[in-house]
Amino acid sequence: MVIKSEHLPITTLGHDDIRAAVRAINAKYPLEYWGAKEKRQEFAQEYFDDFLKAGFTTMTVPEEYGGGGATISQAAAMLEEVGAGGGATAACSTVHGNAIALSSIIEHGSRELQEKYLGRMVAGELAVTFGVTEPDAGTDTSRISTMAVRDGDKYIVNGQKVWNSHAQRADKCLLLCRTSARIGDAERASGMSMLMADLKVPQVTIKKIDKLGRNAVDSNEVWFVDLPVDASDLVGEEGKGFQQILHSVNAERILLAAECVGMGRWCLEKGTAYAGERVVFGRTIGKNQSIQHPLADSYMRLQGAALAVREAAEAYDAGAPPREVGRLANTAKYLASEAANAAADVAMQTHGGYSFATEYHIGRYWIELRPLRIAPVSNQMVLNFIGEKVLGLEKSY
Ligand SMILES: Cc1cc2nc3c(=O)[nH]c(=O)nc-3n(C[C@H](O)[C@H](O)[C@H](O)COP(=O)(O)OP(=O)(O)OC[C@H]3O[C@@H](n4cnc5c(N)ncnc54)[C@H](O)[C@@H]3O)c2cc1C
Repeated sequence: MVIKSEHLPITTLGHDDIRAAVRAINAKYPLEYWGAKEKRQEFAQEYFDDFLKAGFTTMTVPEEYGGGGATISQAAAMLEEVGAGGGATAACSTVHGNAIALSSIIEHGSRELQEKYLGRMVAGELAVTFGVTEPDAGTDTSRISTMAVRDGDKYIVNGQKVWNSHAQRADKCLLLCRTSARIGDAERASGMSMLMADLKVPQVTIKKIDKLGRNAVDSNEVWFVDLPVDASDLVGEEGKGFQQILHSVNAERILLAAECVGMGRWCLEKGTAYAGERVVFGRTIGKNQSIQHPLADSYMRLQGAALAVREAAEAYDAGAPPREVGRLANTAKYLASEAANAAADVAMQTHGGYSFATEYHIGRYWIELRPLRIAPVSNQMVLNFIGEKVLGLEKSY
C-alpha cells in the first residue's frame, strides 16, 4: 500500500484550493529535478517562476500593490505543501525568499517605500536578502556592529553580515544595522534600524559559503564598505528596527513551522511506503514494532505540530497581541522543527542502507531539515523564551 501525503490527515489548516494549486505545480518537478539542482548548486528558477506566476511568492502583499491580500494562514497552507513536494528547504527558501522583506515593508514601510518596492517584488523584478546575523552576533542580535552613520540625506554603512540567503542573485538587502551604539544591557534592543541597501554595487563584496545542503539556495558572507543608502530607504523608524523585526519574525516562524510540517509529512510518507513494501526475514519491515512505532510516533508529533501552526497562524491573522502571537509562533516553530527532524531521522532508519543513496532523496530532507533547529531562531532560544516570558522563571542567560 502506498500512502500519499495528501491522504494523511495531518494537515489542519484547510485552504484546499491553495493546496491543490501548489500540488499541481509540485507535480511538474520530480525528485530528480531537486537532486540535480542540489548537485549543480543552481537556483530553481523554473519552480520560482511558476510560483510567481500563480501569485504565491507575494500572496500576503495587499491587493492595492498587486499582491494576493492573503492571510498568514493561507500562506502557511501554501508553504506546507511546498515542503511536502520533494524539494525540501531548497524549495521552501526559493518560494519564501522575500518573505521578511515583504512583511517588514508592508507593516512598517512608509507609503513611499511601499510604492517603490512592493510592486516590483510582486512582478518578480526585485529579490531581497535579509541581513541580521553577523560573525560576532548570531543569537544575540543586540551585539551587531554593522553601523549606519547619517550624512545629509544618506546613511553610510560599514560592517559585515553572514549567512545571507540568496545574496548572489538578490538586488537589495534588508539590513538590520546600528544607527547608534549599544549603550548597555538595559537598552540593548534600541538603536538598531532597518535599511534597504543595494547589493550590486562596488561598495559591497559577497562570498558564497560552501555548505552541507540546500545548495540550490546560496548562503553568503557580505561586506559593506562606505556604502551609501538613501535616508528614504529607512524602513520604519530609526532606532526601532529590532522591535519592528520582532513582529515580522513571528510571521516567519509560523511559515517556517508550516514548511516543517510539510517536510515531515513527506518523510513520513516515504518511510511508511517503504516500511509497507520492503521484505526482510520473509515479512514487511513495517510489521516490526521497532519500525512501525517510530512512524506512528512521527505521525502524532506532526499532527500536534500542525495544530500548533494553525493556532499561531489564526492568532496572527486575528491581530492577537504581539506577546500572545510570540508565544504561539515560537511554540509552533519548536514543535514543528523537532517533529520534522524526528520524522526525517525515522525515515532514514526505516530505509536502512538505502537511506544513504542519493537516489532515495531521504538524505536530502534529513540534511536540509537540520538547520531548522538552529535558524532563524535556535530551539534553545525558544526554550529560553518560553521559560522566561511564559513560565515567568528567572532569565537563564
Ligand atoms: C541555512 C541557513 C540560512 C540562514 N539564512 C539567514 C539569512 O538569510 N539572514 C540572516 O541574517 N541569517 C541567516 N542565517 C543565520 C541564522 O539565523 C543563525 O545561524 C542563527 O541565528 C544562530 O546564530 P549563530 O549561527 O551565530 O549561532 P550562535 O549564536 O553562535 O549560537 C551557537 C549555539 O549556542 C546556542 N546558544 C547561544 N546562546 C545561548 C543561550 N543563551 N542559551 C542557550 N543556547 C544558546 C545557540 O542556540 C546555538 O545552538 C541562516 C543560517 C542558516 C544555517
